[in-house]
Amino acid sequence: MKNDQLRFPRTQAVVDLSVIRSNFMKITEKTKQANPEACVIAVVKTNAYGHGAVQVSQAIADIPGLWGFAVATVEEGGELREAGISRPILVLGHVFGKDLKEAVKLGLRIPLYRTDTLLSLRDAADELGIPAFVHLAVDTGMTRIGVRPDGSGLEFASRASRTEGIVIEGVFTHFARADEQDKQAAAAQRDSFLGFVRRMREESGITVPVCGMANSAAILTMPETITDVARAGIILYGLNPSDEVPASLIGLKPALSWYASVVRVEEVPAGTPVSYGGTFVTGKRTRIATVSIGYGDGYPRALSGRGTVLIRGKRAPVLGRICMDQMMVDVTGIPEAEEDDAVVLIGRDGNEEITAEELGDLSGRFNYELVCMIGARVPRVYVRSGVD
Ligand SMILES: *Cc1c(COP(=O)(O)O)cnc(C)c1O
Repeated sequence: MKNDQLRFPRTQAVVDLSVIRSNFMKITEKTKQANPEACVIAVVKTNAYGHGAVQVSQAIADIPGLWGFAVATVEEGGELREAGISRPILVLGHVFGKDLKEAVKLGLRIPLYRTDTLLSLRDAADELGIPAFVHLAVDTGMTRIGVRPDGSGLEFASRASRTEGIVIEGVFTHFARADEQDKQAAAAQRDSFLGFVRRMREESGITVPVCGMANSAAILTMPETITDVARAGIILYGLNPSDEVPASLIGLKPALSWYASVVRVEEVPAGTPVSYGGTFVTGKRTRIATVSIGYGDGYPRALSGRGTVLIRGKRAPVLGRICMDQMMVDVTGIPEAEEDDAVVLIGRDGNEEITAEELGDLSGRFNYELVCMIGARVPRVYVRSGVD
């Protein structure tokens, strides 16, 4: 493929919104099988795992079975509201005191587990004259955020339920190990959570309409954890929760491809050092292609001397150190390679494919991190490949 097919030849990430839609529909099908009443929360934090939060959210906003969206910060929620997204938005991370009023104004659902948050929310709701919607966070095994699933947690929930201006819309917990084959730890979290929710109802008389615990891995492998809502993150993008729980279990496909260009091809003799530090020296005559991508774009520098890219459907290994904006690859085995060839960093070219999982493993990042780190400098191009 030549780079005249690329709108941004230096580098671009192409996100196929038809694939996102089709993934989302397969996910809702799976959750409905487990629980016909269940809805899905699309997790679009960190700019939708690098895919573009506004575009991804807009692409699925009309699909039945969507409860709403989840983000990590108030700013991310504000970005969606600004783009006209009106569905519920749950914030998954701690909301700091100075952001609470804005969060209530935006109608964001706030994770609640601290007394100071509760009191500030009461004041914000009073000042604004609108209720503050909260989701009680319960720590059943992540040891991250949330109340304890015991008497102290119940007491906090009761206090919140009696606080003016506060609506406890949801209660949630998060799995630490649902992506493993061995489900013992995840099952213990499930039981702890369900026990807590039952005690809230039976002992404290608190009924919460939106109870959720399943993440991507649990959606795929623990149907009994699909309650009122399930939170789908990585699988929405067609990526694997882990090697043990692959997205292919329900036929999900990766939505993102990443491209760059060959800007020079040069044949050099044996003994030629390549890139900073001369860490790689050619052992024979070598054809070297310079590629317009670097770690400044989020291509991991740890792939120096380890990664491969696709040129004309064939694998070309990275030579020497990856620079901030450029890198060199070996095209000795691809005699047809020439300047202005497109380079595939992630995606398919002919019969070859490079996945985010492969690059994640090779670089010591993992697939979630790899796509999140695709730089702001890389323009995203949106396509719709199919009928959706
Ligand atoms: C990030 C996150 C998710 C999504 O996790 P995936 O493994 O991508 O599905 C769900 N819930 C919480 C609380 C999270 O922080």
